[in-house]
Amino acid sequence: MRIARFTTGEGAAFGVVEGDPDGDTAAALTVRTIDGHPFAPFQVVGEPVPLSSVRLLSPVLPSKVVAVGRNYAEHAQEMGVEASLDEPPIIFLKPSTSVVGPGDRVQYPVGISSDVHYEGELAVVIARLCREVPRERVSDVVLGFTCANDVTARDLQKTEKQWGRAKGFDTFCPLGPWVTTDLDPGDLAVTTTVNGELRQAGRTSQMMRGVAELVAHVSEAMTLLPGDVILTGTPAGVGPLSVGDEVSVTVEGIGTLTNMVVARG
Ligand code: ZN
Repeated sequence: MRIARFTTGEGAAFGVVEGDPDGDTAAALTVRTIDGHPFAPFQVVGEPVPLSSVRLLSPVLPSKVVAVGRNYAEHAQEMGVEASLDEPPIIFLKPSTSVVGPGDRVQYPVGISSDVHYEGELAVVIARLCREVPRERVSDVVLGFTCANDVTARDLQKTEKQWGRAKGFDTFCPLGPWVTTDLDPGDLAVTTTVNGELRQAGRTSQMMRGVAELVAHVSEAMTLLPGDVILTGTPAGVGPLSVGDEVSVTVEGIGTLTNMVVARG
C-alpha cells in the first residue's frame, strides 16, 4: 500500500494511492482519502481522485529526522574515510523544519554555502511510539519506506565540527512521494539523477548497517514517535547541485522524489 499526504487547496489529508506507478498507467494514478491518519487502523473513505489533480505534501511531518553518516563503504571512501564496523555509526539529526515534500523547492543558501550536495537515501517511517526496540521487533514499529534527499552543505560539513547546520537548512530534507508499506528494504536500488543524468546508483544491500540495526541503535537512545523518519545513508556518487537543477531520488518499489533547486530569497 502507498500512503500519501496531499492537499487539494484546503487543508491536508492522508490518502491511499492506487494504480501501478511503474506501468503505463502512471498518469492514471488516483488517491483516496482515509479517515484520520495512518498510524492507527483506518478506513479508505474518499472517492478516487486523479493524483495529477492534487498536490502531494511530505508524506509525514516527523518530530525528528535521524540520519546516519557513511553507511555505504564506497561513499565513505569518496569522502576520504575508511568506514569500519568496529566504529559506532555516526548518528545526526536533521530538524523537522528541513522537511519538504515532492515538488517543493530546495533553497540554496547562496552566500553561506557554495557546495550544496544531493544525497539520495532510503527513509524509514516509524509507525508508533517506541524505544529500545530489539532488532527482531523493528518491523512491528515501521510503517513503511519513502525516498529522501539528505541535502548537505558539504563545505560547512567540512569546516564545522558538528553537522547540524550543514544538514539542517530549511528545505534540506525532501521526503516522498509517499510511504510504501509491505516492502522488504533489504536489496532495493537507490538512484539519484540531476537534470536527468544518473549520479548515484547503489543498492540497500550495500549498507554497512541495515534498517533493523539502525532502528534498534537509534531507539536505544531516543524515543521514536509516529511519523519520525530515519535516513539510512547515501551510496557513492554524491556531488554538487546548482540553482536551477532538478534532482530526483528513486528507490525501487517506492517511486521518485523530484525537487527543483532555487536560490534562497
Ligand atoms: Zn546522508
